[in-house]
Amino acid sequence: MYIDLHVHTNRYSSCAAMSPQEMAAEALAVGLDAVVITEHNTIWSEDELADLQSEFPSLLILRGFEVSAAGRHDILVYGVSDTTGFTRGMPPEEAVALAHERDGIAILAHPFRYQEELAAEVLAAPFDLCETRSVNIDPYHHELGSTLARHYGVPEVYNSDGHHPVSLGSYYNKLHKSVSNMDELMDVLRRAAFTPMEQPERVRPALEDRVERIKIGIRRSIRMGITEPEAVWRRVGNARQRIYEMLPQVLAELEQAQAGG
Ligand SMILES: [Zn+2]
Ligand SMILES: [Zn+2]
Repeated sequence: MYIDLHVHTNRYSSCAAMSPQEMAAEALAVGLDAVVITEHNTIWSEDELADLQSEFPSLLILRGFEVSAAGRHDILVYGVSDTTGFTRGMPPEEAVALAHERDGIAILAHPFRYQEELAAEVLAAPFDLCETRSVNIDPYHHELGSTLARHYGVPEVYNSDGHHPVSLGSYYNKLHKSVSNMDELMDVLRRAAFTPMEQPERVRPALEDRVERIKIGIRRSIRMGITEPEAVWRRVGNARQRIYEMLPQVLAELEQAQAGG
């Protein structure tokens, strides 16, 4: 059974470009059997989930949420339906503690997206799993992510973190046992009875799309007058190396366009 534990839709994630129906249709088209909708700081209601589920009976659709914790750390929470107390900007370790208090699972999402060194509290937090591949994890950070998972002593999970249809089917996990609800999924995750997977033909276009979006972020920074590489990296995130490589190209393109126009 193939599952993506981390997808967004435009119902509650303003940064996502796909409707719930587009997400579900694409998930099926790329061969997924299950997805977990993890909107930012919001969880779908049971009724909403049941409605979408009835439209797509062959795709198992579950729900979690992604907490925007302090220091631009994002934490995925599963098995918790009451989001009370999970607040934007809360310390990451408190989000993990609260998830555990409510018998949930906490996954550190894209650990190095906005920093390449993690704070001591984040390194000490008892995450259950570590996300080490997604469209929002720069390939320059793959090794770093795997090292971090070993530091935590937890399994690696691969997810799309899809905000756009092109991302789906790139990274996902193969469960060694089929599940039909969140409790069963958590049991499989806790026993590490899964294998993280990637589909190179889907990863390639997803990462190309990602690089285009990074380019847009760099252009926006330049237009705001931010051109110093370190400052651009702090704003845009992703691997420092990627921003340092792309910035001169984007600057040259903009200069050329200006000279031409
Ligand atoms: Zn988002
Ligand atoms: Zn996400």
